[in-house]
Amino acid sequence: MILVTGGAGYIGSHCVMDLCKNGMDVVVFDNLSTGHIETVEKLKQFGNVEFVHGDLLNFDDISGVFNKYKNINAVIHFAAFSQVGESVENPQKYYINNVGGTLNLLRAMLENKVLKIVFSSTAATYGEPKYIPIDESHPQIPINPYGQTKLMIEHIMDDYNRAYGLRSVRLRYFNVVGADDDINIGEWHNPETHLVPNILKSCFGDGKVFNLFGDDYDTRDGTCVRDYVNVVDLANAHILALKYLENGGETNFFNIGTNNGNTVREIFDACEKTTGKKIALDVKPRRAGDPATLVADNTKAKNILGWVPNHTLMDSIKTAYNWEVKLQNK
Ligand code: UDP
Repeated sequence: MILVTGGAGYIGSHCVMDLCKNGMDVVVFDNLSTGHIETVEKLKQFGNVEFVHGDLLNFDDISGVFNKYKNINAVIHFAAFSQVGESVENPQKYYINNVGGTLNLLRAMLENKVLKIVFSSTAATYGEPKYIPIDESHPQIPINPYGQTKLMIEHIMDDYNRAYGLRSVRLRYFNVVGADDDINIGEWHNPETHLVPNILKSCFGDGKVFNLFGDDYDTRDGTCVRDYVNVVDLANAHILALKYLENGGETNFFNIGTNNGNTVREIFDACEKTTGKKIALDVKPRRAGDPATLVADNTKAKNILGWVPNHTLMDSIKTAYNWEVKLQNK
């Protein structure tokens, strides 16, 4: 059985679905602060999914999961706050929750001799890029508390590996987009801060205008370049990481991105094309903390995990849109 913390959230739920499709039993642990119980109910249709409502900040909550499910043999850890801007305004919330929560999870794992973990890390651990594309040996100098928490956790995992033999795979995500191909689950944040759902939400007749943050960057059209990876492909990287650990793989870390960058304007145009709608756009000043360009070098994940992204950007925008149509009707 695999324990998935944060399995009611966007990326976690897609990973649970993939685990189910691979015939694995799953226990989802989530405090539902940003995840949705409806998502968990939906996931239960795809396999053996147990749910425990609890908070990683309560050691007894997470310890109780290991007491109840004695056959947990690995953990995939998503549960975290993940908004960069909020982390700058309220760093304490991020350090306590992300780092403190992970410490409790790791303590419970050690006490129960569960020594394999796949962890959601982020391109934000690299900070301002020194070169593009970014490979895994790029310096890790985060420029916001969110990235700091994820980097601290990577370091903690290295120390626990040396001292206790706890092996980890850290997946450093770039920008995640899209929804499950059958549109059972998708991205569901409140408030939504991400690019693609924000553009798509502007399609639905409440006069909402899409705000584009900055068109004076040093890029091909002046807007930021990001590497957009499909959420189903990303979920699959976790399954491969789990297999890597099960096959005795050492602690490791991988970029999960596509090696391709798109500008905000290109994404906007792709959304207009996919939806067939004219979307209202306002150019706003730059958002604090946004580097001009972030693109992954994913060679290591391809070579060692055998990970290959299968979805195109258009696939991702299509599924994101179809999911958004469902959300609007909720
Ligand atoms: N962005 C934007 N308008 C929005 C949301 C995002 O112009 O409503 C831009 C943002 O400034 C960045 C890119 O889209 O250049 C991707 O932002 P997102 O928040 O999706 O991901 P991040 O790169 O922060 O992880």
